[in-house]
Amino acid sequence: MINDIQTIVKNDYCVGCGACGVIDNEIKFELNQSKGLRLPKLDNKEYLKANSICPFTNKNQGFSYFKKYKQSLEFDPLTGFYKEIIISSIKDSKQRAASTSGGLTSYILKKLIKKNLITGVLHLAQNKSSSNLDDLFEYKISRSIKEIDEARGTKYYPGNLKDIKKLINSDKEKLAIVGLPCFIRSIRLLCEKDEKLKNNIRYAISLVCGHMKSINYSKYLAYHAKVKPQDLVQDIDYREPIEEGSAHEYRARFKLDDNKSLETIPIKNIYAENWSYGACMPKACSFCDDVAGENADITIGDAWIPPFDSDSRGTNIAIIRNNEITKLLDSQELNIIKSCKISFVVFLAIIVSPKFYWHGRKRLLNY
Ligand SMILES: Cc1cc2nc3c(=O)[nH]c(=O)nc-3n(C[C@H](O)[C@H](O)[C@H](O)COP(=O)(O)OP(=O)(O)OC[C@H]3O[C@@H](n4cnc5c(N)ncnc54)[C@H](O)[C@@H]3O)c2cc1C
Ligand code: SF4
Ligand code: SF4
Repeated sequence: MINDIQTIVKNDYCVGCGACGVIDNEIKFELNQSKGLRLPKLDNKEYLKANSICPFTNKNQGFSYFKKYKQSLEFDPLTGFYKEIIISSIKDSKQRAASTSGGLTSYILKKLIKKNLITGVLHLAQNKSSSNLDDLFEYKISRSIKEIDEARGTKYYPGNLKDIKKLINSDKEKLAIVGLPCFIRSIRLLCEKDEKLKNNIRYAISLVCGHMKSINYSKYLAYHAKVKPQDLVQDIDYREPIEEGSAHEYRARFKLDDNKSLETIPIKNIYAENWSYGACMPKACSFCDDVAGENADITIGDAWIPPFDSDSRGTNIAIIRNNEITKLLDSQELNIIKSCKISFVVFLAIIVSPKFYWHGRKRLLNY
């Protein structure tokens, strides 16, 4: 049984989510260059508060926020509790092209702002004060449509939540948070302990997660794109579509200062991009079965299954658990291609897409 963060960090099961640093501000983080992650620096003392919220203790790995709503939800062992599963993309082709998959994540975030349901979004965005790959992206609050648009795109880069409370202006802030499933689990656990934070965080949006990539993945791509150490990197588009290709075919583009940019060859020709090799992956990801972000109001991923994956612009698969999110989806603005109660689409995805380790992991971990 692992129930303390000392054992988790010592044995390399920490992804550096930063949540322990939110509940215990004595916990500081430092970049471990070889692992490419910001990890907590711990002394030989007990961290009882932090143990209670770390998403990787045995107790917290099975945490289910939606269990209390189980009467009104369906359940599938692969997705956890859910209301509906949809395949969708936004109709506006320019907006869709600016997002990674079908653009549903940014669409929902902007809808929440426009309807005054939130005042801002906590998500991974460009760190504008750095051009160093070691801290190119950080958790930020976007409070305008423009800022939400600027942060579009999948970041295969580790976030860290430790400073989120410093970013929140007041008790009146109403926020949505975007994160990987284990980050959403730690946020829900933090909110159980911290009423103020719970009052601030109104919606949790998870991205489907095959696994996370450490900072070293970006360095590896930079090497392939021939980015020089002296180049000032402003942003990385990890998934620039190759127009004539399918949704699986893309390249990474490094945006440099002076409007210059450098790109990799198509990613499928780069060794580390085969996700089943698990390159630059934190060890914790090998033991994680929360691919579907079971604690989020909505979990959004790539519909990398036929026939949707033939469209290079990308299409989303989304698992909805909160009625308020369903109400935001306007069929005038979205192609809602398929909506279903059962998770057969998810099964299909597992069988067809090599990115999904889900089935294997569930079996391996005997869930
Ligand atoms: C590490 C990682 C692994 C993934 N693995 C899979 C997978 O195996 N299968 C699958 O179907 N989908 C996976 N996804 C999700 C997929 O890549 C898309 O992010 C998702 O489909 C949303 O696309 P979109 O067009 O709706 O998002 P967009 O409209 O482009 O918006 C993306 C939003 O997410 C935020 N964001 C991006 N990356 C992060 C991050 N790392 N942490 C916090 N916020 C972030 C952005 O700030 C932005 O607000 C993964 C994503 C990540 C980051
Ligand atoms: S809470 Fe997050 S950063 Fe802290 S030990 Fe657990 S996984 Fe690591
Ligand atoms: S695979 Fe699991 S442990 Fe790894 S980043 Fe994704 S949600 Fe977290």
